[in-house]
This record gives sequence, C-alpha cells and structure tokens, in this order.
Amino acid sequence: MTSEGEAHAKRRPVVTIDGPVAAGKSTVARELARALGFDYVSTGAMYRALALAIRQAGLEDIGGQEFARRLDRLLATVEIAVSGGHVTLNGRIVDSQLSEPGIDELASRLSVLAPVREKMRALQREMALRGGVVMEGRDIGTVVFPEAEFKFYLDAAPRVRAQRRFAQLIASGVKTTLEEVLQRLTERDERDSTRELAPLKPARDAVVIDSSALTVEAVVDRMLALIKSKNFRGS
Ligand code: C5P
Repeated sequence: MTSEGEAHAKRRPVVTIDGPVAAGKSTVARELARALGFDYVSTGAMYRALALAIRQAGLEDIGGQEFARRLDRLLATVEIAVSGGHVTLNGRIVDSQLSEPGIDELASRLSVLAPVREKMRALQREMALRGGVVMEGRDIGTVVFPEAEFKFYLDAAPRVRAQRRFAQLIASGVKTTLEEVLQRLTERDERDSTRELAPLKPARDAVVIDSSALTVEAVVDRMLALIKSKNFRGS
C-alpha cells in the first residue's frame, strides 16, 4: 500500500468548506472543528502567507521571465505551516500581517499561477492525509481533497458578505466604505471563480448552505447534524 493508501485506511474524516470571500468560512470552520475535536486549517491564510513572502522579497509586480524564475526559487525554499491556530512563514508567526492592506488581493493574483497552486495543493493534502481536520478555502472539496467524507459550500448574498467584511474592517480601525468593500470582494470572487486552475465552485457532492439569513451557530448546527446523521460523532 502507498503511504497515502495507508494513511487513508486509518484516518478520521476530512471536512471541507469552500466558498467566496466573507461567506463566514473561517468562523464556521473553527467552531465546527472545535465541536468535532478536529484541527482547523485556513488555506486562504496559507495563500496570504505566500503573498507576504512575495511582498517581502520585493516581487509584487507579477509577470515576466525574471518573476517566474524568482518565484520558482522562492517556492522551492519557503516554509509555510499552520499549527495550533497560528500561521508561520519560515518559522515565524505572521498571523497579524495576513490582514495587512493588499495581501488578500496579492494572494488572489498569485493563486492563478500553476506553480503556486501545485505547491499549496501538496502542502494541504499532506496536512489532511491523516484526517481529523476541517479545511476551508476555495478548491478543497474539488481539487485538494476530492475524496473528503464531508463537503460543504458556504455562500451568502454579496451585499451581506460585504457588510460582514466592512464591519470587521471598521472594528480593526481600517477606514473604508461599504461600496469599496463590495467592489473589492466582487472583483476577488470574479478572479477566483473564473481562473483556469481550480476555480471556486461547489464540488458536485457538496452540500450548499446559504448563510445570508443564518447565524454562525445555525450553520454549524446544520453541518454537525449532517455529519452525525452519517454516524460520525467526533472524537
Ligand atoms: O480565504 P482568503 O480570503 O483568506 O483567501 C485569500 C485568497 O487566496 C483568495 O481570494 C483566493 O484567491 C486564494 N485561495 C485560493 N484557494 C484556496 C484558498 C485561498 O485560491 N484554497
């Protein structure tokens, strides 16, 4: 048996949650993981950590052969890990830097590139192989872990999502307007869903939940009920 095969034979379930910007994936995934006694992995945070590495290396102007060469070198050596609720970049915790202005946008522009997606997919598969994980992102149920036992796609109306993100930004002291947030969110969703590689979309076997009129608790309860109905009670 291959090492992937061995890990699969013994592992606890994998739960995937995909969806657009500010659909509530992180909060819901964290709460669900806590209820199940699973690890929680935000793959968006991993893309953001890579964006930070690119910014630190002065490579924000994406494009051209020189960029491609330097990106390959960076991808060969960069170390991105998620553990104990923290994201580390080359051994240093970078949580607070992941919400710096422009990092989300840079992560989205990087995420269309094949070498970036290959690196991330390999890292994320390795993290999920032993199971017992709730992993959220854009392509987890479709591309990273298509054999996951439980797949959800969390959505909400664009204006509701923009309002949620706007409230978070204002609370953290950022000056912006609801219209600006809505425009950025729409642009990022558009890029994420129309890219050639691993575009954002629900897996064919995903349960789609619209959280527009639901609290976090209600979404988590619905997910837990479905998981328990399949006879899995957590650990
Ligand atoms: O989830 P978050 O908004 O932090 O993700 C930042 C960006 O990373 C997304 O807009 C998307 O372009 C990219 N991403 C991705 N695939 C994932 C997770 C995130 O392409 N699985």
